[in-house]
Amino acid sequence: MIVRVWGTRGSTPVSSQNYMKYGGSSSCYEIISDAGTRVIVDAGTGIRPLGASLLKELPVEVHLIFSHYHWDHILGFPFFVPCFIPGNKIHIYGQKKGNLSAMNILDKHLMSPPNFPVPLSIMGASLTFTDLEDRGKVELGKNFSMSYLPMNHPNGVIGMRFEDGDKSFVLMTDIEHISDTIPDPALVEFVKNSNLVAYDCQYTPDEYPMRVSFGHSTWRAAGNLMIQGGAKNLLMIHHDPDHDDEFIDQMVIDANEEFKDDEINFTAAFEGQEIKL
Ligand SMILES: [Zn+2]
Ligand SMILES: [Zn+2]
Repeated sequence: MIVRVWGTRGSTPVSSQNYMKYGGSSSCYEIISDAGTRVIVDAGTGIRPLGASLLKELPVEVHLIFSHYHWDHILGFPFFVPCFIPGNKIHIYGQKKGNLSAMNILDKHLMSPPNFPVPLSIMGASLTFTDLEDRGKVELGKNFSMSYLPMNHPNGVIGMRFEDGDKSFVLMTDIEHISDTIPDPALVEFVKNSNLVAYDCQYTPDEYPMRVSFGHSTWRAAGNLMIQGGAKNLLMIHHDPDHDDEFIDQMVIDANEEFKDDEINFTAAFEGQEIKL
């Protein structure tokens, strides 16, 4: 399984000379199974260059899974060019929000005047939509699946665990911990022995008390979850728009220092990163 980071900025995209190392595009991750099944999680602004990268291997078949529909996770969807090209197959998954399905949200809330002039119906690829439940499992290919469960975040979000043969990757974007020292048992079970856990580390432990209920977490909550779940490799994601490269570098140092006796390895996700599991 290969994990690629196309965008990992949270809340809003950013651009500045001080953000060159980790990047400014908002949430988008690509996961490719050993058998070649391609999954994209979220359509933040990082999905635009991802779409461009796929144009040299048309036609493409993609499973696009939405963790939730906050702007930083959907804003790039209208610029995902493979959706406009006949012959491509795009399987879209997301939870309903009230009466609104993923299709309704993309159609009526994102690609609709006066916010956007081009309707969803213009997209020429084959688009299929699957409503996700509260929790469950989706078979994506041979020996390749995605389990999901609800996490604490305003308007709701799902955490995902991808299993490809004996390898696993857990993606927990946009989660607010309940306690930074006593992790939720359901989440401990979810990350159990995972090869890599990508976790929302938007705030430092010092910043967090001023941002309670904003829906995001800290590297300290992540570290304690990892200890309980027996996982070692933590990828810090959903970087705060106010955190420049230097600030994130320091967060990585601080997190590794605090958890060095527990042998948790913290790294911060950056745009263009590719991780082979
Ligand atoms: Zn977000
Ligand atoms: Zn969110």
